[in-house]
Amino acid sequence: MGQGGALTKARAIPFNVLTQLKCLNCGSIHTRPHKEGDYIFSNIEEKCPNCGGIAHMITAIYIEEQKKQGPR
Ligand SMILES: [Zn+2]
Repeated sequence: MGQGGALTKARAIPFNVLTQLKCLNCGSIHTRPHKEGDYIFSNIEEKCPNCGGIAHMITAIYIEEQKKQGPR
């Protein structure tokens, strides 16, 4: 347990950033991994898995901690 050095290593980000989208056509809410340029309340085009519409508004951006994969 030495000092220093811990911050100099490039490490994988230990969490997922998710963007929550609301479909403006059918109102369903879904999430996908955050992309650069996503801002809350911005309108983006993303295919809705529910109705196939592409008009979405970003309603939330949040961090989800990665969990160990467990049995389902
Ligand atoms: Zn939809």
